[in-house]
Amino acid sequence: MTAGPPPAEVELVSAWDRALGQPAPRRPLLLLGREDADRLPVGEVAALLLRTARSWTGDRVEATLDCPACPQRLEVGFAVADLLAAALDPTADSARGGARHVGTGAFTLDWRGHRLTLRLPTPADLAAAARAGDAAAAERWLLRACLLAADPPLDDPAPALPEVSAAMAERDPLGVVAVTLTCPGCGTATEALLDVPAWAWQAADARVRRLLGEVHRLARAYGWSEAQVLGLGPHRRAAYLELVP
Ligand SMILES: [Zn+2]
Repeated sequence: MTAGPPPAEVELVSAWDRALGQPAPRRPLLLLGREDADRLPVGEVAALLLRTARSWTGDRVEATLDCPACPQRLEVGFAVADLLAAALDPTADSARGGARHVGTGAFTLDWRGHRLTLRLPTPADLAAAARAGDAAAAERWLLRACLLAADPPLDDPAPALPEVSAAMAERDPLGVVAVTLTCPGCGTATEALLDVPAWAWQAADARVRRLLGEVHRLARAYGWSEAQVLGLGPHRRAAYLELVP
């Protein structure tokens, strides 16, 4: 029992333990093990979480939702590789839609004679916006938080929301992961949103609970500590588990 522990599993178990003491929306961020996670653009965080969680889940993300028009359950699958391929390089320059990159996370958008300087929303922004009230209030809060400047000044930025949202989606494609589905039961088209952080947290939670179950079985059989069981590494652990009745 002298082998060094595989850091990925030990770190995952400690990150999960720390995260459980936090409010649910913050938990996935702790899986990334970086201090700045809640200040990165939402889509960048989604890409990091997809890369992290892929090693526990394989390449498929499956989700189900209810048809809004009939009792049918709709199933949707995403390939992690496709999602990551769709994420553009966040530092890439773009002149499409009048949006231009102007340095660390900020960009400008020409809208009805105003030059808007904007930044991309972060998980910290989403958490604050969720406290603003309903969805419309949250959107207005986000717009004000991410609008750094307007030239000439703008009394009410709300009418710019559709263009601002489109420019943000172009710059941070994984900020919102959506796919349109057609219900096989009634033909209604509906938009499915994939909550990447929630999916990553569920994947981590399932992975850790399986690991702890393995610790439990081997600790009971051999009297080993948690650190010793995790230190075996996945292959030796699996071999011992086969021997335990
Ligand atoms: Zn339906």
